[in-house]
Amino acid sequence: MLGCEICGYRKGYDVWKITRRLFDCGDGGFMTPVADVARSFKMDCPDCSGRHWHTQLSYPHQLHRQQT
Ligand SMILES: [Zn+2]
Repeated sequence: MLGCEICGYRKGYDVWKITRRLFDCGDGGFMTPVADVARSFKMDCPDCSGRHWHTQLSYPHQLHRQQT
């Protein structure tokens, strides 16, 4: 899950696609921590035009509830 720290905009993203792109660029790859993926986003937030992205893993709601 990709989120904007300023306005709270959230967007799902294809982890595989991002990881593959990082790997191709030599800028990380399959071992890149999810939190570091946020730094690789070069796009502006569609809502507030900021670039303060953060990423977190998103789990299916049911799984998340069982673990807490
Ligand atoms: Zn935003």
